[in-house]
Amino acid sequence: MNLESKESMAYCGLNCAECQRRFADIRQKINDLNEAFEQVNVQEMVKMIPFMKGKYRGYKKFTTFFNEECPGCREKGGNPFCGIRKCATRKDYFTCAECESLCKKFDSLYKVHGDNEIQTSIEQIRSQGIDSFGDSN
Ligand code: SF4
Ligand code: SF4
Repeated sequence: MNLESKESMAYCGLNCAECQRRFADIRQKINDLNEAFEQVNVQEMVKMIPFMKGKYRGYKKFTTFFNEECPGCREKGGNPFCGIRKCATRKDYFTCAECESLCKKFDSLYKVHGDNEIQTSIEQIRSQGIDSFGDSN
């Protein structure tokens, strides 16, 4: 996927390319943290201290998840149960910008991404059209 093409625009108006850049930054920090743990021999430490085992397993699972490459919203990445994607595809919309106003389904998304980021992007698509997205980013 060309991450700067309009295909990187998710149904909700988030830009998957931007998300992948943020995740790349998180991955780097995870790698740094893993290196720091290796330096203190954390695996041996976990074997010695029983109550750490479950916590360490949880840490490994969560960080492994972050290390997996997301294919992007249009390739079924992100939340597999996303109601926004389901609704927009059912209406055959390229993005929710085609709806008159953003609905209640966005409330939980605002908590993570902030309403400004999403609304700015939706307004931009409405005023400039989705086809100019790849040129202007
Ligand atoms: S899965 Fe839903 S919330 Fe996530 S980027 Fe796609 S449309 Fe937006
Ligand atoms: S109702 Fe409109 S804004 Fe809400 S998810 Fe469906 S297409 Fe998007």
